[in-house]
Amino acid sequence: MTTMVGISLHGRSVVMVGGGAVTARRLERFLGDGAVVRVVAPELSPSVQNLVDTHRLTWIRRRFRAVDVAGAWLVHTATGDPSADAHVVSACERKQILCINAADGGHGSARLAAETRSGDVVVGVVSDASVDPRRAARLRDAVGALLREGSLPLRRRRATPRGRVDLVGGGPGPADLMTVRGRRLLAEADVVIADRLGPTDVLADLDPDVEIIDVGKQPGHHPVPQHEINALLVAHARAGKRVVRLKGGDPFVYGRGGEEVTACLAAGVPVEVVPGLTSVVSVPQSAGIPITHRGTAAGVHVINGQAAITSSTLAALADPTVTTVVLMGVAALPRLVAAAEAAGVPGDRPVAIVERGHTPEQRTTRTTLGRAVADAAAANVQNPAVIVVGDVARADLLLPATQLAGDATR
Ligand code: SAH
Repeated sequence: MTTMVGISLHGRSVVMVGGGAVTARRLERFLGDGAVVRVVAPELSPSVQNLVDTHRLTWIRRRFRAVDVAGAWLVHTATGDPSADAHVVSACERKQILCINAADGGHGSARLAAETRSGDVVVGVVSDASVDPRRAARLRDAVGALLREGSLPLRRRRATPRGRVDLVGGGPGPADLMTVRGRRLLAEADVVIADRLGPTDVLADLDPDVEIIDVGKQPGHHPVPQHEINALLVAHARAGKRVVRLKGGDPFVYGRGGEEVTACLAAGVPVEVVPGLTSVVSVPQSAGIPITHRGTAAGVHVINGQAAITSSTLAALADPTVTTVVLMGVAALPRLVAAAEAAGVPGDRPVAIVERGHTPEQRTTRTTLGRAVADAAAANVQNPAVIVVGDVARADLLLPATQLAGDATR
């Protein structure tokens, strides 16, 4: 029978016998755990040699002798010669030192678990009977996949002395357009502070006792002011909670993420930012619009439609090689078009308005600068929408390429 124990190797002496591929793999793992490793082998493979050089490890350049295990907490043998490995195992047995024997079927007193990690959680697989590394690895991978999906109960039940805040970019809406890291942090969170935009579906999958605070703008309700959001983040983290601030798109693109980071840092609360797919790129993409395209658009100018129109925006609108992407721009469209026309931007510049990108209600209105206001009104275009101005917004932009691809496969 086997008892699985989590051993902390940090700063502890480990002896590895043998200089081949198995040693190289495990050596990396032990070094990653902070072990102090010495290697016993008459010769080393290039990868072990490389690790020995890089980490300045002690290499005892000869065959194993029983004295080599003195002072070790753990010994690992992978000589490729079963009788040599058995000799190491028995030397360890006499000294009561745990020994992992990599030889096929040749057990030592310890075995290495196939491991997968998620944040501070380590899940290991070992077998009670004879070793079966492929089965262990497959099981490990299956558990790892569930951990990455955020579908396992990762949330700590015991409060940590220090809470923290993670600003998670949720992407444009669908849960599977979130990052793996974002999903994991959500699964670990005690408190989630969410907006109206972004992946709100994932909130329904959280534990019933996770506190969800909606600070987003709802029709008829006032949004929570930014300084109050900052205060909420700090207060929950100070109470020892793991706080996720879930945002639509990317936290640092018109998300006021910078202010939230500053508020946390000022309060001494640990804070990290997880990037998300910003609607600047992903919403045009959902309508088949590449915001840069070789030979068509070499640069991108991104603006907040509610802000003042600057000379750099007018220059971008006038430049046929630049794509202008407008967020929060539905209400401001008439003002933007009037300013562009007054600055002499040609009225036939293509415009695409993409509403609710990456959702089932997605809709794209194709128009031109000159007709944009009338067409948007006729279509009753609503927020959230991304407005794209430039040649990449032409409906037929990618068509020739598609036909060429079709020709090539014929
Ligand atoms: N941090 C976000 C942007 C927040 S500002 C990001 O990186 O995407 C909010 C604006 O984003 C909206 O007014 C709209 O212009 C745009 N937006 C966000 N999600 C959208 C979606 N699914 N479809 C269309 N526009 C979207």
